[in-house]
Amino acid sequence: MTFTAIPELIPARMLNEYAFCPRLFFLEWVDSLWASSSDTAEGDRLHGRVDAGGGAAPLPAEGEVKAARSVELASEQLGITAKLDLLEGVDGGVVPIDTKKGRPARGGTPWEADAVQVCAQVLLLREHGYTVERGEIFYAETRQRVPVEVTPGLVGRTLEIVSEARGVATRLAPPPPLRSSPKCSRCSLAGICLPDEVNVLAARQGGRPRRLMAADPDAVPLYVMEQGSVVGIDGGRLTVSKYREVLASVRLIDVMHVCAYGNVQVTAQAMRALLERDANVYHFSYGGWLIGLTTGLPSKNVMLRIRQTTAAARGELDDARRMIAGKIRNCRVLLRRHGGDAMTRRVGQLAALADHAEQAEDAASLLGIEGTAARLYFEALPSLLSAADRLPGPGFSGLRNRRPPTDAVNCLLSFCYGLLTKELLAACLVVGFDPYIGLYHRPRFGRPALALDLAEEFRPLLADSTVLTTWCAIRVGASFPRALASPPGGGVLPGGGAVGHQRADRPDRLWQVLAPADPALQGPPVLAAGDGVLHADPR
Ligand code: SF4
Repeated sequence: MTFTAIPELIPARMLNEYAFCPRLFFLEWVDSLWASSSDTAEGDRLHGRVDAGGGAAPLPAEGEVKAARSVELASEQLGITAKLDLLEGVDGGVVPIDTKKGRPARGGTPWEADAVQVCAQVLLLREHGYTVERGEIFYAETRQRVPVEVTPGLVGRTLEIVSEARGVATRLAPPPPLRSSPKCSRCSLAGICLPDEVNVLAARQGGRPRRLMAADPDAVPLYVMEQGSVVGIDGGRLTVSKYREVLASVRLIDVMHVCAYGNVQVTAQAMRALLERDANVYHFSYGGWLIGLTTGLPSKNVMLRIRQTTAAARGELDDARRMIAGKIRNCRVLLRRHGGDAMTRRVGQLAALADHAEQAEDAASLLGIEGTAARLYFEALPSLLSAADRLPGPGFSGLRNRRPPTDAVNCLLSFCYGLLTKELLAACLVVGFDPYIGLYHRPRFGRPALALDLAEEFRPLLADSTVLTTWCAIRVGASFPRALASPPGGGVLPGGGAVGHQRADRPDRLWQVLAPADPALQGPPVLAAGDGVLHADPR
């Protein structure tokens, strides 16, 4: 099923992606998804050099082309656009030369995907009146220039790919993944595409999924809480300054996103550098309320938003059933991992409830099943937290409470759920969903219902597991009583401040709560669930 025609011109490099894998083209161009790898970083480095300078070439009527870089061409008729790395004048005509990071195919010939890209460039040049006999590809690894002969067969294949790619771009969903392809192990989007998992689930492929190593990003969030400070950019480093004194400087590539609390400025230059790297900037009040988010352009996949809205308006339950069943199964995994044989009965009950959730007839019964599962699960948690009875204030009885949480365990759980929800809210925006339109959590003013939906499955394995492992990893000792305070209205708050569900997103306060008794453990706090606190490198 298709929705609309696409008016946009397809970049020639996206034809390369389509020839390599149609799903990759869809994920990158339509869904605007991107993941870096060592290959893409090396490609960026090479093109950074190639793209330097230039940008214009004389038209055929204006004189002879000697050499021009980064020339941009477009054609409504062909439906494509291209940025040429290098254009050289040869015998009264021109030759486009594209730079590629790797090596040519066996026999020293160009890869089909590369040849298609260069052929698209040749077609564009010809349409603009240039005489072009062939193209060339410079493979940087072997430092070879490989000719691309523009045969009728290659032209036909290129036009066919343009037509197919335009058709695929109008679809609601990406094409299926390649099957057992060696291309996937080098594909930077493998961790997003999940080719084998998707094929196994869709019964397109038997056996166990291969273990593809998705890139583990080295970057971590940067939290800036120094009041009156300014986040700027200096070369490839983000700087945090106050009164013109540089307090800290970190490499831009080490920053996943910036969280600015209270009176913290981010310069326009730093903002642009962050957005170019798809790194968001979160704006919090001093008290830790999430006020806003600066992010790059949203996904172009408007059909995705239409489907989301339609599914929510119809009250479709399929995805909600799967989310809740997944959450219950993950609760079960956590109890089995941490509780062993003592949890056998409860683990069995949760398995049965997960099956019931998948068959739930309506939203009310799904809610009831989730509630029963949550009670079984949280009742078991106190037995997994051996040090909980040594904590100040009310003990954790196995009941969830919030706004404010009335005990230290609930305080930490709320904190981690706050972090998780913040991440998922940003993820929703990046892929093009409206985070306020949920499928399980009903829309309500100010509630990021879809982010809360998505958090359901991740809560046990990311947030709860972080609380459990943090509990075990540090020795909760003498610093704990100082770190907790009871406000007049009751409840336990980290650092003596007012911390609610959203306000719990304050890493400094988490550190106060978790400050270890052992001085040898003093240092920057790092959360085990993949969210970290980057302390500025003073270099
Ligand atoms: S992982 Fe494989 S199937 Fe998925 S986009 Fe990459 S090449 Fe295509």
